[in-house]
Amino acid sequence: MKILIVDDNPDDQLLAKTFLSQDGYPGIEAVDSAEAAFSVLQLDGEGAPTFDLILLDISLPGTDGIEATRTIKSSNKYAEIPVIMMTAHSPQDYLARAFRAGAMDFISKPFNKIEFLARVNAAIRLKREMDRRRAHEKELVEMTIKLARANEELKKISMIDPLTDIPNRRHFDAVLEIEFNRAVRNDQPLSLLMIDVDFFKPFNDTYGHQEGDLCLIAIARILRESLTRPGDLAARYGGEEFVIILPGTDLAGAEVVARKILNGVENLGIPHRSSAVKDHVTVSIGVASLISSMGKGDELVRSADRGLYKAKADGRNRINYDPERSS
Ligand code: GH3
Ligand code: MG
Ligand code: MG
Repeated sequence: MKILIVDDNPDDQLLAKTFLSQDGYPGIEAVDSAEAAFSVLQLDGEGAPTFDLILLDISLPGTDGIEATRTIKSSNKYAEIPVIMMTAHSPQDYLARAFRAGAMDFISKPFNKIEFLARVNAAIRLKREMDRRRAHEKELVEMTIKLARANEELKKISMIDPLTDIPNRRHFDAVLEIEFNRAVRNDQPLSLLMIDVDFFKPFNDTYGHQEGDLCLIAIARILRESLTRPGDLAARYGGEEFVIILPGTDLAGAEVVARKILNGVENLGIPHRSSAVKDHVTVSIGVASLISSMGKGDELVRSADRGLYKAKADGRNRINYDPERSS
């Protein structure tokens, strides 16, 4: 706690100092002009303010107390410091000007010890309360920023599959609902691909789970690279199954994407000696498009799933359609 007394009258300066030290204030400094005060305060200097309260005589040689208050309160460093004016004149003469300049209170001369200390104590209490609130507000702002960042991170984690780094099932479900409703409302096509790795259990059994994971990562990359439109979305549906949403795309367009994926996975050339169709990893794909009888996104998923089942049954490493489909 540091208090600065600015008074050109040595008796008043001494008296003020005495009152304050008798009341237990440790850091008291006194100067006899506004210019000396500015230099002690280091108004333009860097760093935190070093004083907590200023007692300022109104009539000073050079810059007077009111002008000095204005200068101090308009500095960045001491904009918040309480300033108490001291004067022997009748307060009415100066009150309005002093308050306008930023003074907080007024002590008349000659000093009355009880009044003097009561006003100083009140100012100090207020300053402490303000400091406490400001620190609290700052903490609150910092916490809000941290929380927003954590939420952002959490959202990302909860929407992205950690192994393949593409959207997960939850993300897919949310997007499908939006795209399904949009397609129905705008009478636009919407297609879905359901992709399943062929003989993936034997792959894991032959090469180990770790190689299996690397294989899924490579396939997810192919899926991502096969998509060109901004609304297209590839997601991990679960295990070794993936799904792709193709908004604004009809069955023929979806088949083009499906072929691209089939070729892309083949071209990866990941060896698979336990596969019954090829000596490298392949996928089967079920293709489905929105038809007017469908009322929910789930039905599109089920249709693609039936297409996938058919592709598996027909020999794998191929594309097929839902045998039940009809518009
Ligand atoms: P099909 O050609 O009929 O699809 O045969 P499949 O062996 O691929 O089918 P199945 O559904 O029997 O096996 C899926 C296997 O996928 C089971 C499991 O070993 C493997 N799998 C699922 N999730 C993961 C994963 O995250 N990492 C690895 N390495 N393997 C997984
Ligand atoms: Mg499967
Ligand atoms: Mg499989």
